[in-house]
Amino acid sequence: PSITRGVTVDIPNVSWDDIGGLKDLKKKLQQAIEWPLKYSKTFSRLGVKPMRGILLHGPPGCSKTTLAKAAASASQAPFFSLSCSELYSMYVGEGEHLLRETFRKARLAAPSIIFFDEVDSVAAKRGGSESGSTAVGERLLSTLLTEMDGLEHAKGILVLGATNRVHAIDDALLRPGRFDLVLHVPPPDIEDRYEILCVLTRNMKLDNDVDLRQIAEDTDLATGAELEGICMEAGIDALREDKSEDKSTTVICHRHFQTVLRARQNSNLI
Ligand code: ATP
Repeated sequence: PSITRGVTVDIPNVSWDDIGGLKDLKKKLQQAIEWPLKYSKTFSRLGVKPMRGILLHGPPGCSKTTLAKAAASASQAPFFSLSCSELYSMYVGEGEHLLRETFRKARLAAPSIIFFDEVDSVAAKRGGSESGSTAVGERLLSTLLTEMDGLEHAKGILVLGATNRVHAIDDALLRPGRFDLVLHVPPPDIEDRYEILCVLTRNMKLDNDVDLRQIAEDTDLATGAELEGICMEAGIDALREDKSEDKSTTVICHRHFQTVLRARQNSNLI
C-alpha cells in the first residue's frame, strides 16, 4: 500500500467470509456498496441515485474497519483510508489539504472508496458549550461537507465512516446525500461469537477436544478483537506447555483456551 501520514491507499484483501457473524449487516453492506460500484451504468439507466456515504457505528473491536475493507476488496476498488485523529492533530491547514487531496485522488481512481476511521474526531457537533467541537475540527468538518457535496457529479465514489460515538457527530453530516445510511455494528452475540471463533481458528492446529461452542458461551461480552486475542494466547499457551525441542507436534487443546479465559477473568478482561 502507499502510505502518506494519515492516509493509506490499497486494494485490501479481505473477504466477507473472513468476518464471522453479522449476516444481515453484511448483506446490507454488500448491496449498498458493491452494487453502485459494480453496476453504476445500471443505476443511471434506472435513474436510481446510489448512496454517497455509509456510517458504521458501534463499540471498538467489532469489525467496522474490517467490514469496510471487505467491501473494497469485493468490489476491487482502491481504498483510501484516513485516520481522522491524525488529521485532527496536523498543523493548521495541513489536515484540510490532505482531505481535499484524498478526494481528488479518489475521483481520479473511481470507482473507489474513502474510509474515515474515528470520523467523530473531525465531525463533532458544532456550537454550544458542551459540544466537543474546536476551531480545527470545524474547519475539517466544513471541508469534509464541501467535498462530500462535490461528489454529486463524481460517479462511483463511496464514503464510509466509522465511529464509536455516533451521538457526537454533527447532524449536518447525517443529512441525505452525505451519510445516507447509518448502520449499527453490534457486539457479537453467542452465535456470532461461535462463527467468529470458527473463522479465527480455521488455519489453527486444533485438537479434536476444542469445543468452540463452549468457548463462545464462556466469552460473554467479548468483542471480535478480544476473541482474536484469546485464540492467539491459546496458541502461545500450547507452545509454552509443549516442552519438546522442535514442537513439531504441538496442537491447541480446549484446556489452553480455558487457561487463557481464566487468566482474563482474573484480571477482569472479560
Ligand atoms: P476500532 O473501532 O477499534 O477501529 P473496529 O470496530 O474497526 O475497531 P476492527 O479493527 O475491524 O474493529 O477489528 C479488530 C480486529 O478484530 C480485526 O483484526 C479482526 O480480525 C477482529 N475481528 C473483529 N470482529 C470480527 C469478526 N466479526 N470476525 C472476524 N474477526 C473479527
